[in-house]
Amino acid sequence: MFTKKLELFFLAVIIIAILVLSKNYYDNYMFSTNDIPESYKKRIVDKEQEVLQLMQSNYGFSFRVPIIVTDKFKGRLYGITAYKNGEIKIYLNKKVMQESMDYMVDSVIAHEYAHALIFKLGMRDREKDGHSKEWQEACEKLGGVNCEQYVNSQDVVMGKLPF
Ligand SMILES: [Zn+2]
Repeated sequence: MFTKKLELFFLAVIIIAILVLSKNYYDNYMFSTNDIPESYKKRIVDKEQEVLQLMQSNYGFSFRVPIIVTDKFKGRLYGITAYKNGEIKIYLNKKVMQESMDYMVDSVIAHEYAHALIFKLGMRDREKDGHSKEWQEACEKLGGVNCEQYVNSQDVVMGKLPF
């Protein structure tokens, strides 16, 4: 009788484990093949709004640039600011979003917007791959976190994108 109960117990544990695993698999699957979840979109849009308000109050003007979420990134870059034919675009890496959404919102969006602002102001400095004192100041004024440090310095692209 006791063994029977134990068997049932283990069977239940196994079934629950399988359910949890399939749920995780399903979530990952949904994320990599479909558009990003609404909650992520909302966080990006809200943050952009915050950055634009800070730009308005600190610089007296604000401008939006397209934010494109893509899974075409190679490597672990979080974002790219691209400048091509006078047009500025920000690309965010969809592949690292699920695990690093907080970092994306708190640091990356303002970081890339600061690059966009430097381009817009016509200060195309090549110093430290675009991470000059002026950029750092802009990053801080736009509400970025950790503007004194950056993970990858290859996030400013002039001309052709690396993907
Ligand atoms: Zn950068």
